[in-house]
Amino acid sequence: MAEFKGAYSGCEWCGGNGCLQCPEERKKAEQRAMEPIFTADRNNPDDMALLNEFCGREALGKAFGPDGEGMVEVERNAAIASFKQAVRKMSFESKEATQ
Ligand SMILES: [Zn+2]
Repeated sequence: MAEFKGAYSGCEWCGGNGCLQCPEERKKAEQRAMEPIFTADRNNPDDMALLNEFCGREALGKAFGPDGEGMVEVERNAAIASFKQAVRKMSFESKEATQ
């Protein structure tokens, strides 16, 4: 199989064989990679509580402690916090919608 010029291995359209969508898919993936794992609104106490869950003194002490996994653990906890935040926002929005 001929290698398509500029084929993107993560392309959803061709699976990495190369297609016209490859450059676009690569661009999208690069943009996703630059997005922050978690964003907190300083004025939102729920956000700040989530931030504290993975970035607080206790969480960092545990992650970088003798049994911790360091950045891997922090990143995983950040992803969990981000998920919790998304769920909270969704339930908040649906509450808004039904009122
Ligand atoms: Zn492709």
